[in-house]
Amino acid sequence: MNVKMLSSPRHCVSLLLAVFVSGCYGYSIRYDGYKVLRVDASNERHLRLMNQLQHDREIAQWVKDIAATYPSLATEVQVGLSYEGRELRALKVGSEQSESKEAIWFHGTLHSREWISPATVMFMTNQLLVDYSHDPDVQKYLDTYDFYILPVMNPDGYEYTWTDNRLWRKTRSPNEGSPCYGTDGNRNFEFMWGEPGASDDPCDNNYRGPFAHSEIEVKSVTDFILDTSEKQTFSLFIDFHCYGQMWITPWAYSIEEPLHYSEQHTCAGRAASAIESVHGTPYIYGNIISNADPASGLTLDWGYGTANIKHSYLVELRDRGEYGFLLPEDQIIPSGEETYAGLKAMLDCILEGQVV
Ligand SMILES: [Zn+2]
Repeated sequence: MNVKMLSSPRHCVSLLLAVFVSGCYGYSIRYDGYKVLRVDASNERHLRLMNQLQHDREIAQWVKDIAATYPSLATEVQVGLSYEGRELRALKVGSEQSESKEAIWFHGTLHSREWISPATVMFMTNQLLVDYSHDPDVQKYLDTYDFYILPVMNPDGYEYTWTDNRLWRKTRSPNEGSPCYGTDGNRNFEFMWGEPGASDDPCDNNYRGPFAHSEIEVKSVTDFILDTSEKQTFSLFIDFHCYGQMWITPWAYSIEEPLHYSEQHTCAGRAASAIESVHGTPYIYGNIISNADPASGLTLDWGYGTANIKHSYLVELRDRGEYGFLLPEDQIIPSGEETYAGLKAMLDCILEGQVV
């Protein structure tokens, strides 16, 4: 059960202490219009700052805090630096039950204005760690896989959405010969880069960049995954965006069905059903982009086509346009809860080796 309590920032600390000392669990506490603090039932009364609409530096601190709180399950991983020098700070989450573990990658905030994305990624990360102590399914996930999780892939753009332009989408690198800044990270991946569905105009929101992996954030993440792939096989790759409520399978660049489409479609469908079962949020799934509007240089196509990760997806989180990128924060926890259910359904599907 979750109960929400409103408090001014001034009173929040004492309120939290009261909850903490009283041992009441399962509370989500909102304050300040921005932050949610959560007391989780199964984790020895750890208070968890559940981020929610925080600056990149606060999310980076959250990564450190999580690693410190769960030293046997979580370690901090530096994936690289952004163009403006911010750290791409990820977590490696998993137990040490096995020496030959497979790997999973997911990230948020490649598009900086999509604020529900880091919040949902952080919620799910926290939940995996909290649930490990008592949920046999989560124990199985963390014993089988190492999860590499990057809440903010585009920290420069994300910070810019806080300081200058709430609806900024791209990176913040300058473009030679143009007054316009930034590249669309989700058109900059090298697989089918430069094909239709990406702009060559630096002033466009879906500018593909001067060349594939021109953006250091994209280069850093792809290098990290490929380097790690030499030691561990990746079983799942997910790029979390908003909005639209879609679990999207490859390909994005073509209407051609990929070799593993049946398995991808089945598992995406199970994830979508699990999501809907939590709060009734309907998701569509499948090879959706190509049906509507082919796009090239996308994350999920790179994950499948270049990194050879069979289960490679792009998820568009809430909503379907009522609030769009400005999703109210009272949807953060519901989004986290339902997406976490979708993630678990996806992992179950992969573990069963579902083949249709
Ligand atoms: Zn996006």
